Amino acid sequence: MHRLYLPPPLTAGRVELTPQAQRHVRALRLRAGDSLQVFDGSGGQWSARLCDGAQQVELLGFEPVERELERAVELAVGMPANERMDWLVEKAGELGAAGISPLVSARGVLRLQGERAERRCAHWRGVAIAACEQCGRNRLPEIRPVRSLKAWLQALPPAAGDARCLLAVPAHMGARTFAQWARALAPRQPVLALSGPEGGLDDEEVALALHAGFEPVSLGPRILRAETAPLALLAALAALPA
Ligand code: SAH
Repeated sequence: MHRLYLPPPLTAGRVELTPQAQRHVRALRLRAGDSLQVFDGSGGQWSARLCDGAQQVELLGFEPVERELERAVELAVGMPANERMDWLVEKAGELGAAGISPLVSARGVLRLQGERAERRCAHWRGVAIAACEQCGRNRLPEIRPVRSLKAWLQALPPAAGDARCLLAVPAHMGARTFAQWARALAPRQPVLALSGPEGGLDDEEVALALHAGFEPVSLGPRILRAETAPLALLAALAALPA
């Protein structure tokens, strides 16, 4: 069944397709009369039929289908450069991340700000939408604005029931293993994970993170790439019993 995202709010009846949705429908070679699923990212999905020369859909019935993780997992990442951040957004969307904060860090290669940063975020929102269309997720991961890692950490409210982990390379003294850390999680406790860019976090960033309540957690003895580490954590969390 093909799935199409349309911006909220959706209600029963006919809805005009956005230009982006029209392009998608053409790429899938769908025609008036074809059935599809439509979702607006706020939860649940609609059974729908294309109509009016494939310019509109008719929303027929709402289905409260959820495919979210048992616990909310937020990723804050020192952005990897090139297409690696696209990969991260796509895979994190599929694996169920609730939100992604792209951060500019001291040793990061990708230094985005202003209009360029906004354009990249809009692009990543498109990547997240495509991931949700493909994987059946009915809620979009929130792509948060690009911030500097230090400013983001300083503005972070004190931990209120969320478990904060700092993904730490193997050499980091005192890091707990994922298994040790995960054992202490309460059922459905939300997680906020911070990971570094290609060059890792610098000492000041690590100190700020520890001060903000992040606990160093290691995912094993190998050094993972900037996009691999948060995805590995997400997959491990997704596989835990609630
Ligand atoms: N040369 C850098 C490597 C950075 S790897 C350094 O020595 O710091 C990119 C990021 O992935 C790291 O900052 C860390 O957050 C995460 N990471 C990499 N390997 C990891 C591992 N085995 N366990 C947990 N996090 C890891």
